[in-house]
Amino acid sequence: MISVKNITKYFGHHEVLKEISVEIAPQEVVVIIGPSGSGKSTFLRCMNGLESVSKGEIFVNQTEITHNKTNLSLVRKEVGMVFQRFNLFQHLTVLENITIGQVQVLKKSKEEAEKRAYELLNKVGLHDKDKACPEQLSGGQQQRVAIARALAMNPIVMLFDEPTSALDPEMVGEVLAVMKDLAREGMTMVVVTHEMGFAREVGDRVLFLDEGRVVEQGTPEQIFSHAQEERTQLFLSKIL
Ligand code: ADP
Ligand code: MG
Repeated sequence: MISVKNITKYFGHHEVLKEISVEIAPQEVVVIIGPSGSGKSTFLRCMNGLESVSKGEIFVNQTEITHNKTNLSLVRKEVGMVFQRFNLFQHLTVLENITIGQVQVLKKSKEEAEKRAYELLNKVGLHDKDKACPEQLSGGQQQRVAIARALAMNPIVMLFDEPTSALDPEMVGEVLAVMKDLAREGMTMVVVTHEMGFAREVGDRVLFLDEGRVVEQGTPEQIFSHAQEERTQLFLSKIL
């Protein structure tokens, strides 16, 4: 579904991603962990074309998205992304947040878009919040709207960048529950998170990123209980 071939990313002279190669299979849930500044967000942003790469190639569903600007709008549609800070359109209602992309990008009618929006609001447990504005919602509710908005574009892959780390603790569970449902339905997902319970339960594979390199990868059990690399062990000892 996603094929990352030997990508390197520089910001100025700073090499932030170093020859990363990763294959992500359809329906796979890949969890990325690693210290702050290790390149996790940059890696996700490269996978949906928000950042360009300096070297290497990324293919999404056979389409090369690197060095090929013409396909970027298609890629943004096919690769959904959910950010740490929910990034909802504050001046639009919940319903409008979920319909605007469908109308403007997918060229759906308002009726069609609203029908799909209500399906998605049901899915994330917020069918009664359609007329609310984002600022009237809790952080957990806003993040669930952000997930619904991303799903409205019918992406083939969903990327999550620390989706629960800006939330109050009591709201983490409701967002993880929505993500677990998505995984169960077979969505291909790449999730940057330090929620180890989620990673163990839902993750098929865990990648440990440090200083722009994939230092180690394996099943959650292999990484969390039997990490081979000292750097992985050290990192896990700090967060577990
Ligand atoms: P993580 O998400 O793992 O915390 P990031 O991908 O955000 O790491 O950042 C990796 C490195 O790249 C950091 O050193 C960060 O300061 C740097 N960086 C990220 N974005 C930019 C940018 N737009 N311009 C310059 N440096 C950046
Ligand atoms: Mg980050």
